[in-house]
Amino acid sequence: MVNFSLEGKVALVTGASYGIGFAIATAFAQAGATIVFNDIKQELVDKGLAAYKEKGIEAHGYVCDVTDEAAVNAFIAQVEKEVGVIDILVNNAGIIKRIPMCEMTAEQFRQVVDVDLNAPFIVSKAVIPSMIKKGHGKIINICSMMSELGRETVSAYAAAKGGLKMLTRNIASEYGEYNIQCNGIGPGYIATPQTAPLRERQPDGSRHPFDAFIVAKTPAARWGTPEDLMGPAVFLASDASNFVNGHVLYVDGGILAYI
Ligand code: NDP
Repeated sequence: MVNFSLEGKVALVTGASYGIGFAIATAFAQAGATIVFNDIKQELVDKGLAAYKEKGIEAHGYVCDVTDEAAVNAFIAQVEKEVGVIDILVNNAGIIKRIPMCEMTAEQFRQVVDVDLNAPFIVSKAVIPSMIKKGHGKIINICSMMSELGRETVSAYAAAKGGLKMLTRNIASEYGEYNIQCNGIGPGYIATPQTAPLRERQPDGSRHPFDAFIVAKTPAARWGTPEDLMGPAVFLASDASNFVNGHVLYVDGGILAYI
């Protein structure tokens, strides 16, 4: 039988107070996992805890900046003590800065790479030793279509998410022998607060040009929703994907195939 159950598993989803991370953690809870999440601010953690509670989920929420290696190591040690060893890690926390490359400072570029690429390295490194001891582990890196494409104003994001795809492959090849599978999910254009500015109506009431472009170019003719990521995430976190390692699953309504 194919086994999609996450019963008895502890899942950490970073930056999961809302948006894609929240939807993925909710799906994991529905599949039976115990949910741990972190966010960078206490107010976001509180907001997340309330939102999970509303869905009947008793999540464990912590404040932790995923770019701070010492803080991450202390956070993972605390989770292992208070909740248990992490079976499933989703590196979801991310930022984007939409600035034309020649107007971007090196510091702004570094900030994006720090959260979107360095942090998944830091958090993965912190959980892998316990996964090895336990004899299994699943790591899911939230990549992007920008892991494959370049576009105006997203140079740092594309560089980081492209790097994250290669980090995914590397973790898979380096730790596959320990029964650890590391895969990516590449969301297409998903309606979350991060992309809200791209859907704002123009002063004349017409669609934002980018919004119109996405709807025209996506074979599904719509933006994705965080819920669209739920099934693919459960698949990659469960025993159903035990022989899938080092890949990125694009969940994009077909736009990568079309563009
Ligand atoms: P966001 O990218 O807006 O945020 C995810 C969470 O991460 C937020 O709560 C954010 O806090 C938090 N965060 C940011 N920096 C840190 C940090 N240093 N430490 C801890 N937490 C941090 O949410 P989305 O749901 O839109 O995106 C989730 C993931 O999906 C991201 O990796 C994103 O790049 C990726 N993605 C999103 C797409 C989309 O269309 N929305 C498309 C493709 C990929 P705060 O709110 O304070 O910033």
